[in-house]
Amino acid sequence: MALFGFGKKDAERGGNAADQTHPIVGRAIYCRICDAERTFTRCWRRAAPVRRCPCCGAAFDRPETIYARAWPACPQCGEPLEQPGFDYGLCDGCGSKFEIMEGTRPGLLPNQQQRKEMEKHGKSWIRR
Ligand SMILES: [Zn+2]
Ligand SMILES: [Zn+2]
Repeated sequence: MALFGFGKKDAERGGNAADQTHPIVGRAIYCRICDAERTFTRCWRRAAPVRRCPCCGAAFDRPETIYARAWPACPQCGEPLEQPGFDYGLCDGCGSKFEIMEGTRPGLLPNQQQRKEMEKHGKSWIRR
């Protein structure tokens, strides 16, 4: 009886798979970069915090400090980081990455080029 619950712990450990995202069904979403509704064929749900920046490759020793912010981003290059439990997708038209949330406008996660463009215009990608 005392051994009850061991299996669950193992299952949680097993959840740390290499690719911590699950593909989800693509859909048509309004892309504000294309300024049109586009098909998002590649969509996924993130399962665990990002531990390495997909843009500059910086490793995050303490992702919990980065994720304590409302819009977590890489401290080195500003790459917006996907958050566990959220859905993301890539626009088939322009390749932009969006956070997809039912009932709200998709939020852009600007890539390095898009961030540079925004900075040129004195804008930050972070929404308040
Ligand atoms: Zn980075
Ligand atoms: Zn687009």
